[in-house]
Amino acid sequence: MENYRPTKAVINLGAIRKNLESFQQRAGHAEVIAVVKADGYGHGAEEIARTAIESGVHLLAVATPDEALALRRAGIDRDILVMGAVPPAFVPVAQRENIIVTALSLEWIETAQQAAGPGQPLRVHLKVDTGMGRLGVQPEEAETAYAKLASSPFSFDGIFTHFAAADEQDTALFDRQAERMNGVLKRLPEGVMVHVSNSAAALMHPSVACDAVRIGISLYGIAPSPFVGEHSPIALEPALSLETEIVHVKKVQPGATISYGATYRSEGEEWIATLPIGYADGMLRGLQGQEVLVRGERVPIVGRVCMDQCMIRLKGPLPVGEPVQLIGRQGDEAVLIDEWAEKLGTIPYEIPCILTKRVPRIYVNGTKNAGLPFQSTDSMIR
Ligand SMILES: *Cc1c(COP(=O)(O)O)cnc(C)c1O
Repeated sequence: MENYRPTKAVINLGAIRKNLESFQQRAGHAEVIAVVKADGYGHGAEEIARTAIESGVHLLAVATPDEALALRRAGIDRDILVMGAVPPAFVPVAQRENIIVTALSLEWIETAQQAAGPGQPLRVHLKVDTGMGRLGVQPEEAETAYAKLASSPFSFDGIFTHFAAADEQDTALFDRQAERMNGVLKRLPEGVMVHVSNSAAALMHPSVACDAVRIGISLYGIAPSPFVGEHSPIALEPALSLETEIVHVKKVQPGATISYGATYRSEGEEWIATLPIGYADGMLRGLQGQEVLVRGERVPIVGRVCMDQCMIRLKGPLPVGEPVQLIGRQGDEAVLIDEWAEKLGTIPYEIPCILTKRVPRIYVNGTKNAGLPFQSTDSMIR
């Protein structure tokens, strides 16, 4: 892909591998299911899936039927589970493409049976709603669901639930959900794979791992919540860094205004640089005031973030082409996704997901800096 603009997201596949290994060790006998929905949380589903497969992952999980098909079209032949709702029209496609789908209600099981075609049986994982309140049969419907699946032409391969609050200090809801799931599992037929944990549960509650854990956010080296980040038993290594270069530098006079609305006014003579990244790249306007790294030091974004550009205040003159680290490490300093999330009043999950297509994803294989945010060679201070 052409990229004449220096703005890019560098994805360190070495960090993905390292995080995966940490989870594989922590999960003991349980397998890791790599969650690559939403284009691998913005990191690139295909590349993350390939890396996960190389690291021994047997099952990938996505949210939508189209995400599963995109992986198949990219030549990925490993098992894929669609965790979200699939319409009846997708059932024959899932059979043909060997895509596992989620049985999310008793009604769904009946509708899907009518939609099923000849050929290999549809593979399903039954979802149980133990307290998330999103998809799944209610715990008291589980036995009916087992019976329906047993008399259906489907292959009943797995059962799962999803925790709503595994990332919090208060474990009351987590405990209640785990207890409900245990009740459901008592009557489960033999040979059905059980998976309940997301990243937070795998990190904070390893005893419930069952047969597999579904790892999303922390596969990418990001903690699900500040609480989990502080208590994480494994050192997560962020895989994504966001980089650009200065495209324009100028000295402004005292009282100069910067960007739309003139919300910033220089105090004295100041060095202001322009960066070719803006809200159309996913660097939202709420990031006005956020610091970026230049020569290993923090400098602020001043004035409003524009659609395609933003301005930073330098400590002195620097050349056009000077590397700027927006997310990631430079020298001894790091700006983590968590910092952006806090600034934007949101959760870290949103940040990589909203980096738009205009930002090319560049893949590197580095395995250095274990435990530290990724340091990309081309933006290191020389
Ligand atoms: C997204 C998702 C996951 C992964 O959750 P993380 O918190 O990112 O680890 C697991 N299970 C289901 C059902 C999901 O939708």
